[in-house]
Amino acid sequence: MRADGEGIYTRLTGHGTAHGTDLFDLHVIASVISLAAHEEPGSLAEGLGLEPFEVRALFLELFPGAIGMIGEPAAKSRPLSNDERALRDIFWHASAQGGTFARLLARIMARRCQRPNHLWQDLGLGSRRELTLLMARHYPQLALRNANDMKWKKFLYRMICSSTGFSLCLAPLCSECDDFDDCFGPEEGDNILARLRNDRPAPHSGAGR
Ligand code: SF4
Repeated sequence: MRADGEGIYTRLTGHGTAHGTDLFDLHVIASVISLAAHEEPGSLAEGLGLEPFEVRALFLELFPGAIGMIGEPAAKSRPLSNDERALRDIFWHASAQGGTFARLLARIMARRCQRPNHLWQDLGLGSRRELTLLMARHYPQLALRNANDMKWKKFLYRMICSSTGFSLCLAPLCSECDDFDDCFGPEEGDNILARLRNDRPAPHSGAGR
């Protein structure tokens, strides 16, 4: 898919979205596709953490009228890291729904967690509030567990860390850890798609890891 100036988001949402699909879900997926297409113009599948046939399934599910926008599939997807594999499991097991969309969304979320900014930014969303809504709707168990409003990527990696005996964290208790300020607090930053629309480079803040 070419990330051209016409605006992938507008083309996706204006090209025959699937009847009855939730508008918020359409917005989330159109946003992440727009950003992933900019980052990986040669392979949307890579940016979304999906196999090419799964990208097709995603379009058939949400944007059937825009299926022609998918380019040639890349030859091979890169192998998954252990973290990404663990994140896929976390999202899938916490998913409020089953089915194709839930499975694909879990994979997309896990791949976007590999990017360097806050999770809401790396999903191409407009604000952290949108991510809060997404988590409450699709991953209510995780939303409940993150009652202390930890930064989302930190929260998810903390889950992985706890399953490996806290081998990554500096302390078993966040309250006793020197990195506390880095893991909690507001997830502020720019809307990446808005930056790109204004010909500003995407940030690479490292704020999300
Ligand atoms: S505050 Fe420390 S212990 Fe808690 S998640 Fe962050 S690094 Fe791990």
